[in-house]
Amino acid sequence: MQQYANVIVEISQKNVDRPFSYIIPPELLPKCRPGVCVIIPFGKGNKLITGYILEITEKTQVAPDKLKAIAALQPNQNVMEGRMIELAAWIREQYGSTMIAALKTVLPVKKTYQPKEKKSIVLNWKEDEAEEYRAECERKHQGAKARLLQEVLAEGMLDYQLVVSKLHISPSTVSSLLKAGVISVNSENYYRNPVKKIQSKETDKQLTQGQLNAVNRFTNDYEAGIRKTYLVHGITGSGKTEVYIRMIKQVVGMGKQVIVLIPEIALTYQTVMRFYHYFGDRVSVMNSTLSPGEKFDQCERAKRREIDIIIGPRSALFTPFPDIGLIVIDEEHEPSYKSENMPKYHAREVAGKIADMYGASVVLGSATPSVESYYHAKNGTYELLPLKMRATGGTLPMVYTIDLRQELREGNRSIFSRKLTELLADRLERGEQSMLFLNRRGYAGFISCRSCGQVMKCPHCDVSLSEHGGNRLVCHYCGYETEKPKVCPKCGSKYILSFRAGTEQIEEQLKKRFPGVRVLRMDGDTTKQKDSYEKILSAFAQKEADVLVGTQMIVKGHDFPDVTLVGILAADLSLAANDYRAGERTFALLTQAAGRAGRGQRAGEVVIQSYQPDHYSIVKAAEQDYEGFYEEEILYRELSGYPPIFYILAVTFIAKDEKRGYDITLSMAEAAGKMIEGEKWGVQLIGPAFASISKINDYYRFVFFLKNREKDKLIRIKDMLEQKEQKEERRDYQMQFDFNPMNPF
Ligand code: ADP
Ligand code: ZN
Ligand code: ZN
Repeated sequence: MQQYANVIVEISQKNVDRPFSYIIPPELLPKCRPGVCVIIPFGKGNKLITGYILEITEKTQVAPDKLKAIAALQPNQNVMEGRMIELAAWIREQYGSTMIAALKTVLPVKKTYQPKEKKSIVLNWKEDEAEEYRAECERKHQGAKARLLQEVLAEGMLDYQLVVSKLHISPSTVSSLLKAGVISVNSENYYRNPVKKIQSKETDKQLTQGQLNAVNRFTNDYEAGIRKTYLVHGITGSGKTEVYIRMIKQVVGMGKQVIVLIPEIALTYQTVMRFYHYFGDRVSVMNSTLSPGEKFDQCERAKRREIDIIIGPRSALFTPFPDIGLIVIDEEHEPSYKSENMPKYHAREVAGKIADMYGASVVLGSATPSVESYYHAKNGTYELLPLKMRATGGTLPMVYTIDLRQELREGNRSIFSRKLTELLADRLERGEQSMLFLNRRGYAGFISCRSCGQVMKCPHCDVSLSEHGGNRLVCHYCGYETEKPKVCPKCGSKYILSFRAGTEQIEEQLKKRFPGVRVLRMDGDTTKQKDSYEKILSAFAQKEADVLVGTQMIVKGHDFPDVTLVGILAADLSLAANDYRAGERTFALLTQAAGRAGRGQRAGEVVIQSYQPDHYSIVKAAEQDYEGFYEEEILYRELSGYPPIFYILAVTFIAKDEKRGYDITLSMAEAAGKMIEGEKWGVQLIGPAFASISKINDYYRFVFFLKNREKDKLIRIKDMLEQKEQKEERRDYQMQFDFNPMNPF
């Protein structure tokens, strides 16, 4: 059968929408695949130009006799554009989407603006005078000014772009210092010598034995040409960043480039500066505050080898470096590494593919590795590099677990247990800081018994039921429905409630209980404005408050040496989310939150309040015992058929018309069912049912799940469904695929 190639002439976001079809001559067919660079006759004069194959098809829109044929393959195939297309094709295949959507994920948006000149900030006054000014700013609580001056003092010179767009310092802060005359802004001759910096830093930090072992394992492998994936499992404060930096240094020294992924929320000023200290302006930062034009510029600089290292969230993975040698993924367990839009790729998996294509290594790091990654480390696919001690020698905090059922029984109905109240009072008296943490992630109106802690669960799925209007409880995995019970089925208590305490209420109660207490609150409401996140954190760092109250946002990034107490108000909140990852998330959040206490000289204390203090996620987090947690968790995943032992594919349908949505879901599910049966695969089909959010913006959502130990089988079913969709006449719905979904459906 004749095959055709969709070819684009220039790689850009705009062009991928309009590829040209060409006939593939039979002798070229074996070598043609997405990403291959070809020579094609183009335009009226049939001028021979270069293009890239996007897709191979058996049909074309244009009549075949009007089509031209590919003239030849380009002899030099090893070009970056080709590799980006190959990567897009792989993503399309693995996660399901159109080729266009996959390409748009991988390619930067073309720039549409004039490049800016490169500006830098330098000190204008003598150092001691500037230092005096800085101290004065600090006294006046002008945090941003003080911070900027401190950095200019330390570095001598700072990249203007880095300061305003990535360090959360506003242009107005810069211009007020400029007006005072203490700094000046240069627009030329911005060159520094990073080598000098690297040497001066290396001497002042002696690696711990654990850090040294990890670095040596990596560098020995790397020099010997061994490329693989490493998992740095280091407790909070064990100095993982230092380890990454040494590894990066090795790879950059060999003329290769490095991509460092850090979740956006942890991409703070402190973190960025640590890399900047070592690598100077050979490092660049990509984050969501950059405009598309600025992002495009970064990509151009990467292509031209003007930078060696890019730091950024998920999307930085697609920086077009010519010779990638290493990809580092810090906090690799973070759910933000999974894309929420089609194609719903996971950065960890894509990093593995990129590493294969370029001959690079991957380094994953976390204090609480994802169960997936630890599983791979256990079975030898990844190499485990443990860091078991805090780098600064500090000890891990003392942890108290408080049973909230007991508190209720003994007459305490407040949000704060007696232990937490006592310790808070003590900290206020001593002038030390505390953090109160409401573990609200995954909260979806679940209900539990306030007396015995029983959570209402689906009898078929081992996930908690969600409360819907009309006193109904619904399972979002299988569609099971029941009436909300009047008394607890386990202990008969009448106190079955949905847990709805928010951060605002906590702030209120705190002020009532401790009049005069200075409270800062950080949650989705208080961080809507740009920069407010960093503002709250730096206000807290400057001791403008005694207590910081917040959601999971507060557990990332910043070091607060004066925090000696961390309170976790209701540790079960994330446990009851209707999601098989609830245990893993709870363990990670509690461990990270506990790790916030006692970072400085004084030892810390942690209070974990819970209705289920004996759940293994909570017990093991209190003991800071990851290994113990993992053993329990992997057993549960095996028994219940969840990742990483099984793969799950969620197929979601979104339609304006409810009946149409249900019909198409049913017919697709039936097709999947037939394929499974015919092939005798033993793939499990679950559903179809309403998705957990059954209607968004008046569009109805349905879902079914496929489950198997082998991912390939699920991919083949996905391919079949995509083909079936091609034949569908009415496209009045959307079909979406999600492998090992992060969010409950
Ligand atoms: P992690 O990311 O593992 O939680 P960090 O990389 O943030 O830990 O390091 C914690 C603190 O320890 C940082 O302030 C860092 O500068 C410091 N640190 C790291 N390595 C060393 C070392 N070898 N000697 C002294 N201090 C170190
Ligand atoms: Zn169920
Ligand atoms: Zn009960």
